[in-house]
Amino acid sequence: MFYIHCPYCGEHREEEEFHPKGQAHIARPQDPDACSDEEWGDYLFFRDNPRGIHHELWVHAVGCRKFFNVTRNTVTYDILETYKIGEQPSVTAESLASAEKTAGVQVADGGQQAVGASDSAVKDSRGAKV
Ligand code: ZN
Repeated sequence: MFYIHCPYCGEHREEEEFHPKGQAHIARPQDPDACSDEEWGDYLFFRDNPRGIHHELWVHAVGCRKFFNVTRNTVTYDILETYKIGEQPSVTAESLASAEKTAGVQVADGGQQAVGASDSAVKDSRGAKV
């Protein structure tokens, strides 16, 4: 049993109250009539299946019944953040990769500063996305 934070209820609730609904941030084509069959097929049927950071749509089915987004690590099953529909994730695969690179450079210089450098890299990438 673990708990998931609902961004609408503002509480950590038991996982059994939630259901995953697949990949988040799938944009409907602006003009479906202008799409090729391949473009329309990609939109309808093909989804990312990354090893690592994945942004997913979830619903608080036995709660407020609202949909929201989850950033989850598919390797460790860690939920890194939840956020409302229409918002952008603050944690992405790119932001974590750049934070790890920064931390790696800092470790080479001196291990003590690595944690602080990693934290600031994540904050910088979050700020850039706003
Ligand atoms: Zn809720």
